[in-house]
Amino acid sequence: MVESDLVIAGQSIVPGESKDIALQVSESYLGVPTYIPVHVVRAKEPGPTVFVTGAVHGDEINGTGIVRELMFKTLEIMKGTVIFVPVVNVFGFEAHARYLPDRQDLNRCFPGSATGSMSYRVAHVFFQEIVSKCDVGIDLHTAAVRKTNYPHIRADLDVAGMEELAFAFGCEVVVNKKGDEGSLRENATQAGCPTLLYEGGEALKFEQSIIDLGVRGVRNILIKLGMLPGKRVKPSYQTRVDKTVWVRSDDGGLLRFHVSPGEIVTKGQSLATNEQLLSPEEAIIVSPIDGIVLNMTTLPAVKPGEAICHIASPQKALEEIQQEIESSPKTLHRRLEDDLATSFHVSEPEEPTES
Ligand SMILES: [Zn+2]
Repeated sequence: MVESDLVIAGQSIVPGESKDIALQVSESYLGVPTYIPVHVVRAKEPGPTVFVTGAVHGDEINGTGIVRELMFKTLEIMKGTVIFVPVVNVFGFEAHARYLPDRQDLNRCFPGSATGSMSYRVAHVFFQEIVSKCDVGIDLHTAAVRKTNYPHIRADLDVAGMEELAFAFGCEVVVNKKGDEGSLRENATQAGCPTLLYEGGEALKFEQSIIDLGVRGVRNILIKLGMLPGKRVKPSYQTRVDKTVWVRSDDGGLLRFHVSPGEIVTKGQSLATNEQLLSPEEAIIVSPIDGIVLNMTTLPAVKPGEAICHIASPQKALEEIQQEIESSPKTLHRRLEDDLATSFHVSEPEEPTES
């Protein structure tokens, strides 16, 4: 692509210009066009083109909050272009739903198809008009409904240059994982636009500390790419994660939580007590590994097989992580941990009584 030629939805954006663009991706039953709102900021100097997307899953709106804050703070980029898309799945967003009206997951339909089903056509237009014109992508997500994520980056660290970018965002935890088939992240990366995924918080909420970290992360990436001045803000510790484990319930019951998101846990530590509704029977659910609590259910009612916690096994030793946290206690991550913990009633597991 010639640097000066940036055309989206038939509109050209020249260097030094900022523009709102309505990208038509479909039509309603009434034949009214459906648009994805796009905001493009271009510096005069040539440089990388970066997309920042929210709500690819229509109910995961923390990303929308992050993109809004970035847009309203009118980034004074020194070079290159940022393409902001606060809501990609406009259909799901309007319905407070993850999916599109044809029940497809947009994040499994990329790169899309011009002649495919509805969701594939939406994905195709978005991929052609936005993603194919970018050099780096940042896709913002949350946990699925009734779960919460301790904020982390997911990226395929085998891709050249990805590891540096992934750590530059400034989350404590970077999970090395290839993107799912059909995902925006995987297809953009395959097409030569290395793309990171930020996971933070819950669906259907604006969580300010999750948004603050996301805004800081995007700015960190733009600083890393030489598009913004200043220094990157780093967290108290960072670790790569190659292995994660889901902990599931074996019984139907009601959970009392003993940990909260972001907490460091050791193998055998109690995560939750699963209590019965009408009997004093209970089961203690323990962590199968040493790790960091990455995801938790916010709904205390569980059936056998339902996920309670997602634990990340860090490459860095737990003691080292603990020391680094203690040496800088007042970070955004600690505030965020406190905020996320308010979704749980966290209590100590009861000690067995002596007879
Ligand atoms: Zn998502």
